[in-house]
Amino acid sequence: MCPKNKRNNRRTLLLFVLCPFFALTIFSFIFFKNEKAEEHLLEIKTPDEAIADLKNGNLRFLENKSVHLNYAHEIDLTKKEQHPHTLVLTCIDSRVPPEIIFDQGIGNLFVARVAGNIEDDNILGSMEFATTIKHTKLIVVLGHNHCGAVQGAIDNVGLEHLTQLTSQIKPSINPHKTYPLSDYTIDDTSRKNVVLTIEKIIKKSATLEHQLKNKEIKIIGAYYDITNGKVAFLENNVVLK
Ligand SMILES: [Zn+2]
Repeated sequence: MCPKNKRNNRRTLLLFVLCPFFALTIFSFIFFKNEKAEEHLLEIKTPDEAIADLKNGNLRFLENKSVHLNYAHEIDLTKKEQHPHTLVLTCIDSRVPPEIIFDQGIGNLFVARVAGNIEDDNILGSMEFATTIKHTKLIVVLGHNHCGAVQGAIDNVGLEHLTQLTSQIKPSINPHKTYPLSDYTIDDTSRKNVVLTIEKIIKKSATLEHQLKNKEIKIIGAYYDITNGKVAFLENNVVLK
């Protein structure tokens, strides 16, 4: 046998040995990818698991160890359906992006945003859709410090549509506030605004109130510090530092 034929035979043998290995690798990749997609969709089953997931996500974010960064992969995982475990109602403030500060990526959160994180009928309808149709387990009302909408309410700012928006925040202003206003006053108002918003949500939506009483969902408050990235969760109407 000439050397050329020997080389060809070796190549054929090598291909014969390696082909099953490559096939197995490709099959495993597809299989485990699909399995991971299933886990991604189904891993959060209770409101408390959703809270824990958000807390862990904020810790990863603070430690610069976020894992939900492969957006192309997450688009692929969620292209056929979505099952977000939590709906976050928060402010439009550009420094408060829920998907990033909770390290949730694409497909894990419904997010409703309005200046001052207040409720209205459209927000309530979105929440009822999330919890009833998509079986979302948790609603978080997320306030934050240095909130321009809260500042506007305190300063009595009025504009065409802004006036009615800030009027919804005004009941949270402490009538015994002292002048000049401090950051504490704005902070205090923002925290109370979260609590009052939760109370209004429960009072106005019989659907959500029913799901809450049946322990199908939880509605909790949280407060984001834009100066350090930390989220403090409100439990029993007391903000935990
Ligand atoms: Zn704000």
